[in-house]
Amino acid sequence: MPHTITGNCLCGQVSYRAKADPVFAAHCHCDDCRKNTGSDYAALAFVPIESLTWQGETRSYSHHAESGNLMTKHFCPQCGSQLFGTNSGRTDRIHIKVGTIDDASWFEPWYNVFASRRLPSTPINPEVPDADTMPQPKPKP
Ligand SMILES: [Zn+2]
Ligand SMILES: [Zn+2]
Repeated sequence: MPHTITGNCLCGQVSYRAKADPVFAAHCHCDDCRKNTGSDYAALAFVPIESLTWQGETRSYSHHAESGNLMTKHFCPQCGSQLFGTNSGRTDRIHIKVGTIDDASWFEPWYNVFASRRLPSTPINPEVPDADTMPQPKPKP
């Protein structure tokens, strides 16, 4: 049975559901994720794009990553919570910002991606392997 992942933004205007097991899971230490989340890294759960539905109005912002791919971030226009993100290089999947999931106690990162960009103060689990870029795709270790 796949997970049913539910969550919402801080104000509750946007809520979502995905019936899927993650196809990739990561802590991303890249500069873009730091700016986007306002935190020292981003915890991301990737699911098949067709598995995710949401209610409520989102806005989005698109920018180019170092790879040249177009990255689109979806957020709540009312409270500003960052919710989802897509990558033009991998149109079959979408990431969910793990902090917005109702119960993310099951979440485990498969990789620390952009590990070399990690802030010295960021604690990491040494059992989680490093990857220098966002793997395209990479199996669960
Ligand atoms: Zn909101
Ligand atoms: Zn990142």
